[in-house]
Amino acid sequence: MSDALPLPNPVFAGLGTTIFTVMSALATEHGAVNLGQGFPDEDGPISVREAAAKALRDGPNQYPPMMGLPLLRQALARHAKRHYDLDYDWQREIVVTSGATEALTDCLMALLRPGDEAILIDPAYDSYRPIIEAIGARAIGVKLDEDGWRLPLGDIAAAIGKRTKLIVINSPHNPSGRVFNRTELEGLAALVREHNLLLLCDEVYEHLTFDGLPHIPLCTLPGLHDRTVRVGSAGKIFSLTGWKIGWIMGPAVLMDVVAKVHQFVTFTTSPALQIGVAHGLDHEQDWYLELPRQFQKRRDSLVAGLKTAGFRTMPCEGTYFVTADISPLGINEDDVAFARRLTVEQGVASIPLSVFYGADAPTRFIRFAFCKKQETIDAALAKLAARRQGT
Ligand code: PMP
Ligand code: GLN
Repeated sequence: MSDALPLPNPVFAGLGTTIFTVMSALATEHGAVNLGQGFPDEDGPISVREAAAKALRDGPNQYPPMMGLPLLRQALARHAKRHYDLDYDWQREIVVTSGATEALTDCLMALLRPGDEAILIDPAYDSYRPIIEAIGARAIGVKLDEDGWRLPLGDIAAAIGKRTKLIVINSPHNPSGRVFNRTELEGLAALVREHNLLLLCDEVYEHLTFDGLPHIPLCTLPGLHDRTVRVGSAGKIFSLTGWKIGWIMGPAVLMDVVAKVHQFVTFTTSPALQIGVAHGLDHEQDWYLELPRQFQKRRDSLVAGLKTAGFRTMPCEGTYFVTADISPLGINEDDVAFARRLTVEQGVASIPLSVFYGADAPTRFIRFAFCKKQETIDAALAKLAARRQGT
């Protein structure tokens, strides 16, 4: 008889630590300016934090309802109506979660059966794939086009097969920074209707689009509302990423099952933070609608500096991020090695894109976050400029 312990789940046993943690640790170790992991370096509205602080002091401090506080679910229903004319019944069709990461896991576990296939758009946010695989389903990656990060509708159509159940679509898209336009979304919608698929829409950057581009929730397109669950995050709307308050909205038939997963993953989430977020959705609309104007300026200054430093920047229409092609620098190393070296030797941390692919990853792109104070961006650009001058 062997003394070796029984084996753990191979999906997770085979994984490394997420790239965000790895690059942030490297940035700290080397005192680098951290444009890797996406978090703002200014906290969101004081009134939101004060509402949460008051609730923490005065209560309630015991388990809130499993689906989330009615106060927040009602504020979320109003938010969906106000911005997108979407109607959700706050009692059955909205669930509050401990961050969008939990929300995504709840949805995938609720909607996929072992043997099902789910289509991901690569580069894909890194939590989707392991969860799909842990369920015993298969993740089928379809790559964004590398010239402009456009949605590859032909490739998506070709990837749909008998077992395809679900498409995960993230717009505004992390890590590319694309906001998929109406033509792309209509093409996708036609495929979803034709093949009777479900949609999981990761919309955490819904209020971070630039140059006046609209965010179009896919479920507003004809025939999609009843087959779509949409995920949001207060962390992104209010620059409070550590709070980990997220939500899911969808038709009752799907949300009934999603809620069953949520009840056993976390059951519920901090009431004080839910109260803070409800306050923000109702009273800090001006704040979150102003944020993209500020981040757009930071994007522009980062893009200008990256170009001066010799990178080819890719289109950036939303999110916290811009991607850059390192090949014009004439460097003979891949994105992972380059991003490490840029952190250690030049003092600027970024995120290599190849880690967000299932297979055939390009190795010439890295991602920089601009959701930072102007002085943080200036400090990073000064380091990159020094590199170019060889100082
Ligand atoms: N989806 C995407 C595309 C993200 O960038 C993030 C960032 N954190 C999440 C989901 C998770 O959000 P949260 O922090 O609310 O869990
Ligand atoms: N969403 C953030 C990013 O893309 C990081 C989230 C995390 O660290 N898990 O950088």
